[in-house]
Amino acid sequence: MTFLPTDFESVPCDLCGADAPNVRYRKNGFTIVECSRCGMVYTNPRLKSEKIGELYDADYFKGHGFDKSIDYVGDVDSYGKEKSNYTLNDWDLDTIASMLRTPLPQPPPLGRGGGALLEIGCGTGVFLAKAREHGFECAGLELSSYAAEFVRKMGIPVETKAIEEANFPENSWDVIVMREVIEHLPHPMESLRTIHKWLKPGGVLFMATGNYDCPERKLRGSDWFYFMPEGHLYYFSNRTMAKYLRKAGFRTIRVTNQGDLLMEMLRKYGVLESGEPSPGNILKRMVFQLVRDVNHFISSGMRVYAVK
Ligand SMILES: [Zn+2]
Repeated sequence: MTFLPTDFESVPCDLCGADAPNVRYRKNGFTIVECSRCGMVYTNPRLKSEKIGELYDADYFKGHGFDKSIDYVGDVDSYGKEKSNYTLNDWDLDTIASMLRTPLPQPPPLGRGGGALLEIGCGTGVFLAKAREHGFECAGLELSSYAAEFVRKMGIPVETKAIEEANFPENSWDVIVMREVIEHLPHPMESLRTIHKWLKPGGVLFMATGNYDCPERKLRGSDWFYFMPEGHLYYFSNRTMAKYLRKAGFRTIRVTNQGDLLMEMLRKYGVLESGEPSPGNILKRMVFQLVRDVNHFISSGMRVYAVK
């Protein structure tokens, strides 16, 4: 896809409002800047929203777009046939499940069967199908009507709208999930405030995104795989993410960098079984926890858990 100068727009920092960007990286004809006031990293200038919309066509969901690391349509196929080679793996749901079990000052008001769960940017709906198996009452929000059709076929309600167009009542969701979505949003602050309104008091926002502070970015610079400035507009560190959430009104905020690469590898070679080892199996448990800690350090991903 080729772009014209008129396809681009310059924007101030979405986190603090300052217009004081310092260029940090150049990639694919774009510049990635850091706000000199608050340290937020973002693509600037960036493609205008209507141009960005064109990126999310059928090819994108098959892994032929600007992000070749995912294949949502392939995931649906795997899911239907009960294979386990998803590009978006089970661990996302495992992470949510374990986070929901973690004792909190004020636990989320989930019923016995889970609760009302909304996934924003649900793609072809494989995660929602899994959440439904875990007892959640699920719905999705998805901009692409091509992807949303897959979700409907699974019998899960989905609205083909942007966050700012959706009209959910206040205090209506127990859990809102955004996996690898916030970095694509043109105005994350506005979106987080809307999500905060939609959540029930004590409700939980779960997010996954890239970790700008990861060793891979520091070592490889602009070659960091997560720099996809066509569609990735924001690059969060644990610090800027926490700042965003506090400003949007969230109270309990947990930002971690747990990854799955090492874990997946060890499972592949049979060193670890899937799921957490039982408390009785002390040796396996120690290995599991060690791997989790190492993952925590090397991961280029970020996991966020925030309570309204
Ligand atoms: Zn700023």
